[in-house]
Amino acid sequence: MQRGTFQFMKSLNRSIILNRIRLEGPISRAQIAKDTKLTPPTVSSIVKELIDSGLIKESIQGESQGGRKPTMLIINEKGFYVIGLDAGPKDIKIILSDLNGGVHHFSKKALLLPVTADELLKMMKSEIQGLLDQYKEEEDKIIGIGVAMHGVVDVDRGISLYAPNLHLRNIPIKEQLETTFNLPVKVENDAKAIALGEVWFGSGSGASSVVAVNVGSGIGAGIVINGQLFHGEHFIAGEIGHMTIDIGGKRCSCGNYGCLQTLAAGPAIAERAKKELAIGKESRLTELSGGNLERITGRLVHKAALEGDQLSRDILHSAGIYLGIGLTNLIHLLNPERIIIGGGVANAGEILLDGVKETIARMALTERAKQTDIRLSSLGNKATAIGAVSLLLSELFSI
Ligand SMILES: [Zn+2]
Repeated sequence: MQRGTFQFMKSLNRSIILNRIRLEGPISRAQIAKDTKLTPPTVSSIVKELIDSGLIKESIQGESQGGRKPTMLIINEKGFYVIGLDAGPKDIKIILSDLNGGVHHFSKKALLLPVTADELLKMMKSEIQGLLDQYKEEEDKIIGIGVAMHGVVDVDRGISLYAPNLHLRNIPIKEQLETTFNLPVKVENDAKAIALGEVWFGSGSGASSVVAVNVGSGIGAGIVINGQLFHGEHFIAGEIGHMTIDIGGKRCSCGNYGCLQTLAAGPAIAERAKKELAIGKESRLTELSGGNLERITGRLVHKAALEGDQLSRDILHSAGIYLGIGLTNLIHLLNPERIIIGGGVANAGEILLDGVKETIARMALTERAKQTDIRLSSLGNKATAIGAVSLLLSELFSI
């Protein structure tokens, strides 16, 4: 199957019917014909092809509208699998997912830093080969590989143009992996892949325009409009971490001053805590860090906040306010239906979200904009790898 599956899907009517089953299944042939305005014989013959190909299957009998009970159709989720890679900057995570985003394998391996482009590619190949060896019996059902990584990615050519945290440029991921494994490969920026994954399998389901914001050691976002990722002309759409919030603020890794991520990302939260402790503020953090300020991280601030530490709660709340300012700018620019917040800092949950929501409610222009649907990610630490899988699925199911 493999490459052929994609060719097979190119027919417009097949895609329309397949998506109907994916979104509405269990669904009967008669209902598909009614919804799509295709003739019943056309639906029947395409359904037969889709069943023969293994993409869909017949399920339980539906309710009868008088007469014989119709046979219902659903996606054959274990008919095919996709490999998803979350590549760096600290480790490589790899998953094997079915067509419904069910994760059948998850493993992770630390990167030995510093790494060269060749070493990174070699390691990605070895992880993929390891998974293929483990799932030999399913090998024919694996239809492609999705790769998500930080930095700027040329999605057309599947090249990592710039991966700042690894100090690497121009890694020909797609070409290398396609040659080695003879499978279609899609490469995408991690925040953008996450956004697509949220729409397919997470908190973005059912919304027509979604911005997924990843708040970790930096801040990035992916924009999905009508099911499609928006990249911009030079692949940098969504780089909201470098939105200027305070021109007199701290210098950012990008060279500019007062970027959003210097105020709301994990390292900024840790910095703020260190500063407050250095001037003698009382906090549970002193004990948790063993009195060593250098041991304070965003995660530790979160831990202290959960234990009721007021200073830590205040710091996370104020990070939420800054994030809310950035997101208000984003709402005024794009007016999305839903915003999803994920990444390590999002683990702070409601403490962070309260600051975000109250800021948007205070600053956004209209009543409805003030009530923009803001949610936390539901995909956890597999969000990036699941996003990588959805790169392939969105192509497979695309109309
Ligand atoms: Zn910046």
